[in-house]
Parts: sequence; structure tokens; C-alpha cells
Amino acid sequence: MAEINLKSPLEVAKMRSAGRIVGETLQLLSEMVEPGISTKELDSAAADYIRAQGAKASFKGYRGFPASICTSVNEEIVHGIPGARRLKEGDLLKLDVGVALDGYHGDAAISVPVGSVSEEIERLMGATRDALSAGIAALKPGVRLREVCSSIQRTAEQRGYNVVRDYTGHGIGRELHEEPKVPNYVPRRVMWQGPVLEQGMALAIEPMLNAGTHRTKVLSDGWTVVTKDGRPSAHFEHTVAIDADGPIILTLS
Ligand code: MG
Repeated sequence: MAEINLKSPLEVAKMRSAGRIVGETLQLLSEMVEPGISTKELDSAAADYIRAQGAKASFKGYRGFPASICTSVNEEIVHGIPGARRLKEGDLLKLDVGVALDGYHGDAAISVPVGSVSEEIERLMGATRDALSAGIAALKPGVRLREVCSSIQRTAEQRGYNVVRDYTGHGIGRELHEEPKVPNYVPRRVMWQGPVLEQGMALAIEPMLNAGTHRTKVLSDGWTVVTKDGRPSAHFEHTVAIDADGPIILTLS
């Protein structure tokens, strides 16, 4: 297995600077979300804001991704491409933003209701936010990664939701995706414990919860991941550094 890069306090500070711009961008976008706005307009606003901070959108051009942010609606889980689609009252929008500044990345996502949404959607969003909080709370030196995965999975399944297995959280730093992978469930491999968490690790924790099956498929655009059964999905993500005392969230505004 590839090595996990531990970050120095200076590197964590740089990731905090990148992460703050991620948080600010998500805040700005969430305030723009309303019925009638297109996902392309959100992408443009994000690109402008990130550029104005002297930073770069991490996703633009990543393996050929054509936009600055990901916008995924309803049954779309992650990696949706912004475009002409206009949001409608009752939609569930997921916004995923990555920013690179001074050689380091921050990565975070939120789920945003468009206008007023059904109680089903509200419950799904709440459970996903709680699953993220549970995962973050488990991040302490000496803890096995399995415990983090288990906390997320338990929170989701207790509420009657399924966690996506085909996509995971990840280490982050100089690269957008580093070791280790952070599954939102405990892999079935016998006795899998995962690495022991250490001070200086930086992880993107990102539960994706589905109202129905955990199964996914990718649309013909080659990017957009949707639920196999067409039921809605929610996503929340933070980039978090592990300090001696526990987690430090780096992607708050
Ligand atoms: Mg991520």
C-alpha cells in the first residue's frame, strides 16, 4: 500500500488557507441557490470567486473534468457536470468544491435544498450531516480507520439509509487524492482494520447516503454518478486534519 503523507503544522496551515476558500465558496453558492438558477451559473460564480482569491479550482481539468465544481441533483450522487439545467423547487442539490492554494488542496461538499423540499429529503440531508459529524468525531491519533468507517455506516444505517460503497473519502494534501481511502462503511474483508490514525494526517471525510440501494451507475457523460434505482442521494464533506487532541476541520468559511 502506498504511503500516507503526514503534514507538518506549516502544511496544515496552508491547507487551512485553501480550505477556508472552499468554505467561503460553498457559503457563497448556497446563498445563490434558488429555483430557476442554472448549475452553470453556480460554476461561473465559483470560478470567479476562487480566481479572485488567487487560488485554483482543483477539479478543473482533473482527469479532464470540464468545470470548476461538481453539481449533482436529486438521484445524482457525485461528479455532476454544471450545465444548462435549471434548478427546480424541491430539488436536492449537492455542491462539491476543491481549491488549490500555495501547493495544497482543500475539498468539501454540501447538500442544499432548492426552495422547500420534502420531509424525506430533509431527513436524508440531516442523516448525512450527522454521519459526517460522527466520522469527524472519531478522528483521533491511535484510533483505527475502521472505527471512523464504522461510525459513519452506523449513523447512516440506524436512520434507514445506505452508504455508497463505490466512492470513498480520501487522504488529501499536495494531491487532491492521497492515501488512505476512507470508505463510508466497514469493508467486508476479514478483520480489516485500516491504518492507525496519526497526528498530521489530513483526510477528506465524505459520506454519500442513498434513500434506496447503495448501488450506483455512471451516466454516458462519463462523469455523473447516479443511484441505480433513481432514488435521491445526499453528500456532505469536510477536509479534516488530525491534531494531538483530535480533529481540526479545515474547510470552514
Ligand atoms: Mg473529496
